[in-house]
Amino acid sequence: MIDQIDLFAAAGAAEAAAGNFDVEAIPTSGSVPIPPGIYSDLDTLTRHCNNCQRCGLAAGRTNVVVSRGNPQAPIMIVGEGPGQQEDEQGLPFVGKSGQLLEKILAAVRLDTEQDVYICNVVKCRPPNNRTPVADETAACKGYLLEQIRLVDPKIILLTGATAMKGLTGEKRGITKIRGQWIEWEGRLCMPILHPAYLLRNPSRDKGSPKWLMWQDIQTVKAKLDEIKAAQ
Ligand code: SF4
Repeated sequence: MIDQIDLFAAAGAAEAAAGNFDVEAIPTSGSVPIPPGIYSDLDTLTRHCNNCQRCGLAAGRTNVVVSRGNPQAPIMIVGEGPGQQEDEQGLPFVGKSGQLLEKILAAVRLDTEQDVYICNVVKCRPPNNRTPVADETAACKGYLLEQIRLVDPKIILLTGATAMKGLTGEKRGITKIRGQWIEWEGRLCMPILHPAYLLRNPSRDKGSPKWLMWQDIQTVKAKLDEIKAAQ
């Protein structure tokens, strides 16, 4: 177990302010940001997540769900949070939504082990799969920002409104903004529909969620090919 310091304590706050933050110490309060640039590698970040108590979701988790896929992947996929199967296995997107996501990626010849790195806005399962609340996404956001910095993907896909809002603060409905390229902190991002939404809407008709996802994922693959060709 990693020792945690409370940055509300004067000594911890002074250390952090002076830039001498101890990488082995995580702010126990979710309202104290995780200092940007603190992690030199994803293994340390994962270890810290596994011991994290920064928000109330820690109490109900079986496993912390940090990531799966390739840490050098050109595409990062950000979801909302772990569901039951993810919580049990400690891996993101392994339930029905994950299986559908893999099929969608495979349809444009993207491999989940090679081409993508998958993670969530919150690393611990919200009770009854409810949407994470603002305090929880804020407490966990530092980990996500560090994952983005360390993986350094060419493209970030934000699956669903919670992922979109959690990272960028954008509050418009996902159906209004899906499929549009946006620039966030100098990075190329696209909000897309969440696979769970597609499971609830099985139609493949033109204009249906599945049809829209097919358009979006082809756009993403074309952009990736363009980026690779320009390198
Ligand atoms: S959801 Fe994130 S901030 Fe909350 S306890 Fe889990 S790892 Fe920590």
